[in-house]
This record gives sequence, C-alpha cells and structure tokens, in this order.
Amino acid sequence: MTVISSNLGYPRLGEHREWKHLLEHYWQHRLTDDEFHANAKKLRLANLKKEQNLGVDVIPVADNSDYDHVLDTLAAFGAVPARFGHFDHALSLSDYYAIARGTKTAVAAEMTKWFNINYHYIVPEFDEVSFKLLDNRWLRYYQEAKAELGIDGKPVILGPVSFLKLGKRHGEYLDDVALTELLPQLLPLYEQVFQELAAAGAKWVQLDEPTLVKTTASAELAPYRTALTQLHQAVPELNIELQTYFDSLDLYDEIVQFPVQAIGLDLIHDHGENLAHLQNSGFPADKILAAGIIDGHNIWASDLTKKCQLVQTLQQIAAPDHLWLQPANSLLHVPITTANETKADPVLLGGLAFADQKLQELAVLTKAANQGIQAVQADFDRNQANLKALNHSSHRNNQAVRAAEAALPTQTFERQAPFATRIKLQHDRLHLPLLPTTTIGSFPQSATVRAKRAAWRKGKLADADYQAFLKAETKRWIALQNDLGLDVLVHGEFERTDMVEYFGQKLTGFYATQNGWVQSYGSRGVRPPVIFGDVAYTKPITVAESVYAQSLTNKPVKGMLTAPLTIINWSFVRDDISKAQVQNQIALALRQEVQNLEKAGIKIIQVDEPALREGLPLKQRHWQAYLDEAVYSFKITTTGVANDTQIHTHMCYSNFSDIIDTIKALDADVISIETSRSHGELISAFEQNGYDQEIGLGVYDIHSPRVPSVAEIEANIQRALRVIDPRQFWINPDCGLKTRQEPETLAALKNMVAARDAIQAQL
Ligand code: GLN
Ligand code: ZN
Repeated sequence: MTVISSNLGYPRLGEHREWKHLLEHYWQHRLTDDEFHANAKKLRLANLKKEQNLGVDVIPVADNSDYDHVLDTLAAFGAVPARFGHFDHALSLSDYYAIARGTKTAVAAEMTKWFNINYHYIVPEFDEVSFKLLDNRWLRYYQEAKAELGIDGKPVILGPVSFLKLGKRHGEYLDDVALTELLPQLLPLYEQVFQELAAAGAKWVQLDEPTLVKTTASAELAPYRTALTQLHQAVPELNIELQTYFDSLDLYDEIVQFPVQAIGLDLIHDHGENLAHLQNSGFPADKILAAGIIDGHNIWASDLTKKCQLVQTLQQIAAPDHLWLQPANSLLHVPITTANETKADPVLLGGLAFADQKLQELAVLTKAANQGIQAVQADFDRNQANLKALNHSSHRNNQAVRAAEAALPTQTFERQAPFATRIKLQHDRLHLPLLPTTTIGSFPQSATVRAKRAAWRKGKLADADYQAFLKAETKRWIALQNDLGLDVLVHGEFERTDMVEYFGQKLTGFYATQNGWVQSYGSRGVRPPVIFGDVAYTKPITVAESVYAQSLTNKPVKGMLTAPLTIINWSFVRDDISKAQVQNQIALALRQEVQNLEKAGIKIIQVDEPALREGLPLKQRHWQAYLDEAVYSFKITTTGVANDTQIHTHMCYSNFSDIIDTIKALDADVISIETSRSHGELISAFEQNGYDQEIGLGVYDIHSPRVPSVAEIEANIQRALRVIDPRQFWINPDCGLKTRQEPETLAALKNMVAARDAIQAQL
C-alpha cells in the first residue's frame, strides 16, 4: 500500500524576494526581456529542485507566474480586454504587464481578493472576447521541468468554470446565461492544452476548481460536470486531479462521482466537514483521494502524531494505493522557509513551519505511512518536543491573561448609556459644527518619513532624533489641519508602517518575522505578524502621540487604534486556541489603551475595523458566528469609557448592505465608510435599514492622486443628505491618506472643506 506525497503550488517570491526584484527591475527598464526570462527560469528551476530535494513525489509545474495565475490564464486563452489590443500570438512581457498595471491610454484590469484570503487576482473581463489558445504555457513548463530536471510534473491549470466565474462581463460577475454561453467556447482550448500535454507524456494535470466549495445546489454543478466530462472524453489518457480548497464540498456525494481520476479535498479549512463526508459516504474506490492535511494558509508546525492518525483513518477510506497527501491549498500563501528567521526565539522557531518545512512534514508523514513510524521516529520525537516546549512556554501561559479571558461574560459588553443619551453629552462637550469634517487617520508617508524610519531601524538615526522628527511631522500637520479648517484632527500615524504591525510591536505575544513575506498582489509582498503567545498589555501604545497632538490645538484630536478582528485577519494566528480567544485577548488589551487615552484627555477615539467585510467566511452559514465574535471583541475594546467620550470606527470596502445589522450592533457613535466608488448603493442600504448613529460616507476617493473638485464633492454630500439627516452626517475622505502625496492631499482636503462650507450655508 503505497502512499504518495503531492504539492499544489510553491511560493513565487523567492527566499530573498528575488522574484519581486526581478519584476520591479524589469518594470524600471533595468533588464531586457531576455534577461528577465533567463532569471525567471533560474528561479523557477531552483524552486522545482527544492521540491524535488524535499522529497515531493508529485511536483506541480506551471504554478509559477510572472504576476498572477488568473492573469496567466486569461493571457494564455486570449481573453485580453480589447483596450489592450488584439492578439493572435503569445503576449510579450510588456503586453502582459500592461493588463496588470495599466498604460497611459488603458486603465489596468481590476484586482480583487482571491476567495477570503489576502491574495489579489486580476479579474478577467469577458465583454467581447473570442478565446484563442495563444500560449500553451502548461506544456512549455511541463517540458522544461522534464528536460532540465527530469521532473515528470503535474501542470496546474485554473479550471474553466472557476476561471469564468472569477471574471466579469459588463461589470458584473457572470450569471448562468453568460457562463453557459462562454464555457463551450473555452472548452476546446482546454482540450487542446490537454491533448498537447498528453502527447508530451504528461500523466496528470491539477485542475483547480476552487469555486466548487461555494456550490450549494445540484443545478450549479452542471457546468463543472459538462467541462470535466468533455475533457475526459477528449483526452482520456490524461489523468485529472480535480482540486478544491479553502472550504468543504457541500455537494460532496455528487462531486466525487465526476469523471476525474483524483479529487483534492481541503481537510484543514473545512470545519471538519470534508472528513465527515469521507467517513459517512466513503470515497469511490476507482479514484485517488488527494487529502489536504497540512495547513497551506497558516505557519504552524503540524502535530505529526495527530496527522499520522489522520492518515491512518484516510488509508481506511481510500482504496489501496489511492491516497495522496498534500497541503490543503497552494503554499503560495505562506512564506518560504523558517531557515532565515535567525533571530527568532528557538522555542517559537520549533513551532513554525513555512512552505519548505510543510513539504518536509509531508515527506515524513508519507514515509511513516509507507514504512512505519519507526522509520521517522526521530522526526516525530523532535516534533513532539518542539510543540511541548512552545505550548508549555511562558509565552503561552500568561495566567493573568487567561484569567481575564475566562472571566469574560457571555453577554456582550455595553456602553453605560444608550446612543441617544451619549450623543447629546458628546455634542455638549465637543461643540462641533453641523457636518463636521475630519480625516481617517493617516497623512502621507512621504519619502522623508520613510527614509527617517529606515535610518532609525538600521541604527543610523538615534532614537531621540527619530522621535523628534515624528513630533515635528505631527506638529506640522496639526498646523496644516488647522489652516484647512478641519474640525476633528488626527496626529497623522507617521510612526506606523502598518496599522497591524505597529500594535504587534507594542503588545506581548507577537513576533515580527525577518523574512516571512507572502505575495499580496503582483510584486507586492506583506509580512504578517505572527501571534504566537498570550497577548498582554504592558505599556501604552498610542497615548504619547495622541496627547502630544492634542497639546498643540484646541480642536479635538482623535485617538487612533486598530480593532481586534483586523489585527487577527492580517496576522498569522496561533492555532492551539480558538481565533475568538486570541481576538478577545487583544480586545482586553486594547480596552486598557482606550481607557488610557480617555484618562489622558482624548475625547474622541477611533477604532478601525477595515478587514471586517473582507474576512467574511466563504459560506454564509458561518457568517453569523464570525460577525458575532467581531461585535463581541469590538465592544470589549470600546465600551470602557464614559458616555461623553466619542467612539468612532472606520471600514474599508463597499457593499455593506448584507452586514448592516452588524455595523449597527458595534454601537460606535460615529462610523466612517469607504464608499466613494459605490455611493448610491450604500446610501440606499442605510435608507432601507434605518441608522441612528452618526456616519461619514467617504466623500472622495483617496485611491487615486486626482484632486476632486468642490462641485463633485458637493454632489456626493447632497446625495447622502437626501437620505441621511444632516445632524448625523460627517464629511471625510473615504480612507487614510498615507499613500498620497502632500500637495494633492492638501488640495483635496481644501476642496472638501469648501464643499462642506457651501452646503452648510444652505442648511
Ligand atoms: N486609520 C487608518 C489610516 O488612516 C485606516 C486605514 C484603513 O482603513 N485601512 O491609515
Ligand atoms: Zn479604509
């Protein structure tokens, strides 16, 4: 009974972000096309060689990309939006990058989140496409791996149905009609790719159909079934691994009967449901069960003993020689190796597994399954010792934190008085005009700000000098805000590189990785903090900055914090306790910060929750629990203050109509929302649902350097005032201004205040 290990995809960035630099150097015209291709090949082969050395049996190929795999797919199939030109041959690099990055005459294609994780893909536009196979990239990379490294790889292809469903036609995601119309045009090209692969000797393809996890009604399966049947009939000699990930299959019983030779299931992010299906319904004896047993989206070492038991269970379910062990999803979403975390506490390091360590785990588990545990006893022993050391360490056993957490009530925390009472007290205290103006928190992180921070980090700028610089920048911006005539001021967030990282640096239980980069979009990487221990509040985080800013003006200065859920969503979170527990630990710490800000005289405190909407679980049945936890932790954070202290919150991303009850339940006194790109829609949501609290619907878009005119901002305000009482309405840009330049920021804010003044005069 042989068990086989398989991978789904390897990270692109390179151990030292070579890939990122390659792309960016190319964009800066520092490399020719030939140089780019040669370097890209070197990286590609190095990655494959690593997988080979780590003992992966079935190695994915063509999982590499020059930007994004959805972009690769649309470029290969000639689904290039017309504004970028018409192509009857493979795209050149510059044509390819034009789609992702835009040109002087053509705006870049839209980018959006890949399912519910922090990777962004290029959204295909199927407006007037005629598909054509311009480049069988899967064949090219299959042949390359074979010729150069002797790897008989498994080409990874985004499945035709998911490819179509991830795209839009006339600005909307495809409906069934569009899908039924486009699929038959696309399938012959997939057939051709399959035929050419089979002719070149390929035995397997990994066909990713992640949208399958979102299907709930049998009727939705028709296009998938059609596609798979047609491909299987056309090229029966090529085996298809139908790969799903990020959640369970509600339609398991039907999907496992599809005409494919292997089915890849996520046994990590499935709420236990896929395993239950396997145990309750069994698994077809003629198919390979490709079991995703290693978390491809978090960075913790597996408990090998427990995984080994899981493998034994799976061996009883799959037919003999029909079990593959895999990561649950592509390793694209985790950093590459812990080997470069040279400064990490060894106790933490032993508990971490990045991509390479995950592949090692797979190799060990595969060997254990094939040769017995004794063959890998040393690995198992080391693993047990490492996990024990981390779990028993002081980092994970802060008694005070645990006691506070255990004492949390089941009921949510509440403010002392209801909103109607609070807001009167706040108005009396703050004396703000009608339609008060403010900003969302950050001001431009100029080249100077970034250079000073870099110098300070490298030890080239003394701490005192850096602090003095930050103060001077805040002072300058307080004066600018006063000159602009804004009503509620902010300190500017110059001390923060990132709204999550900054809090991680000041609370216990966080580790900032040295090299834990993951691709966010294109060449952009992020380095999420690792929450590995109990989170405790040991010292004030933002109080000094806020108090200093407040000392410079008579106008109220808003304190500025990041809410627990956003911190969680943008971090790698320990998995030995529940996410909700970690979230509440953070909330209890931030509650103290909020109270300290209040004690220090700060009258308004904003607690940002930008990640609320984007972190929603894939399946709607899990939404309520997620939203309830969000509300619970937000209210731990914000309810410990007096009635006349005003709590604000801010959220990015439009389309709140389906979670408006949650927004109300947060019971913030004022909420600001990013809306400028979907103003009408959002306003009608508030109109239909009624909303008592005060609200700032972003009156201009900060995502472009364009300075909006006074008239344009006035129109946005007027539109909102048709449904929202002017006594409820705030005037602000739609998000923080840290990515903008100073001149355009000042010009836009000047127009914003002018627009407010004009409308105020008419009221
Ligand atoms: N206060 C933060 C800022 O202004 C909010 C950022 C965000 O919404 N993502 O930068
Ligand atoms: Zn925002």
